[in-house]
Amino acid sequence: MDDAHAIVVGGGIGGLSAALALHRHGWRVTVLERAAELREVGAGLSLMANAVRGVDSLGLGPALRRGGHGEAPGGVRNRHGRWLSRVDATEMVRQLGTTALGVHRATLHRTLREALPASSLHTNAKVEHVESGPDRAEVRYRGPDGSHTLDADLVVGADGLRSQVRAQLWPQHPGPVYAGSTAWRAAIAFPDPVPAAITWGPGAEFGMVPIGDGQLYWYAALNAPPGGRAPDELAALREHFGDWHAPIPALLAATPPAAVLRNDIHHLAVPLPSYVRGRVALLGDAAHPMTPNLGQGAGQAIEDAVVLGAVCAGGAEGVPAALAAYDAQRRPRSQAVARASYVAGRFGQQLHNPIAFTMRTAALRLIPARVALRSMARYADWSPPAG
Ligand SMILES: Cc1cc2nc3c(=O)[nH]c(=O)nc-3n(C[C@H](O)[C@H](O)[C@H](O)COP(=O)(O)OP(=O)(O)OC[C@H]3O[C@@H](n4cnc5c(N)ncnc54)[C@H](O)[C@@H]3O)c2cc1C
Repeated sequence: MDDAHAIVVGGGIGGLSAALALHRHGWRVTVLERAAELREVGAGLSLMANAVRGVDSLGLGPALRRGGHGEAPGGVRNRHGRWLSRVDATEMVRQLGTTALGVHRATLHRTLREALPASSLHTNAKVEHVESGPDRAEVRYRGPDGSHTLDADLVVGADGLRSQVRAQLWPQHPGPVYAGSTAWRAAIAFPDPVPAAITWGPGAEFGMVPIGDGQLYWYAALNAPPGGRAPDELAALREHFGDWHAPIPALLAATPPAAVLRNDIHHLAVPLPSYVRGRVALLGDAAHPMTPNLGQGAGQAIEDAVVLGAVCAGGAEGVPAALAAYDAQRRPRSQAVARASYVAGRFGQQLHNPIAFTMRTAALRLIPARVALRSMARYADWSPPAG
């Protein structure tokens, strides 16, 4: 192949996945990350079957299966621990060909990083300007020793929720908005066996996912005004979730205060009209930040990366046509998943009104197992492009 060169803005899960997908198709890649160190903050992650197939196609499946915990999501419980909806895990695995994978974010990030040439990764490189011409795209970034300009055949904007690339190339777009909930999460040592499952109370959710090696990832979400902070986040969580079913109080008790992360949840209420401008493509949260209710944000970023690699397999020559194909394949699906995730949050975690809450709970109990399975599998049933 010609010396096709791509610059990836952002070294999160999306950016590193894109760099790896392009690298595996013969591209030279340069990842520019503004942080001083390449690492993933954040606790654990559920990779649904689509994301597992994505990491398999990037050659990372065996390492991640060794470093994580494979299990189909178990279903939904009420705060007293009664199952409202249960997924037939055996049938789900039979249909999708794989379990989901609970994994520590740091493990996924490290596995991606180690699969890339170290010389392609640049930290302390904050991208300030991106411009696309007909034949090349240009990036200006600030490093410790001043400003630099680089050009390439392709630039990938993988710079997350507050994407500078999105803001610059789609200046009319309103950007992300608060979705109405705040999430707390932590990865902790918890060797007792626990099913991957979620629990709903009025306006509240608590989820738990084993992530291998005696570790567990839990997350909690509540309806709350944006921008809040508690002097002691764990104490505030114990107040809300302390009388929920086992092992929730034990999980909170086993959590060191410093392990707790708190994030307001944002999404794009107005979807982008395109993920592509000239030779620049957006990917991951830069393109479609979504609520976490379907556990699909990173999964969609991985899908984006795999598809981007596949459409760019021909090298630098066909980039405009390749990016048109990328937009056509990725935008409808990722925006549908983002929409479904928002709706799942509104009718799941966020439902607070007592009458609506009681009706929803009753309805959940009536849903046949095969219907629950179909709705769980709906967005997880994706396969990488052939070839
Ligand atoms: C509470 C919560 C739970 C979640 N749970 C799940 C889950 O179970 N499963 C799942 O699939 N997804 C989940 N997600 C979503 C998932 O975390 C994100 O979708 C995913 O991490 C996005 O990755 P990204 O690489 O696109 O963006 P980011 O992780 O935000 O990475 C962007 C990178 O770009 C860098 N950057 C930004 N600006 C610049 C710049 N100007 N120059 C250079 N670098 C820059 C940043 O420093 C960062 O490293 C969850 C999200 C939340 C909030």
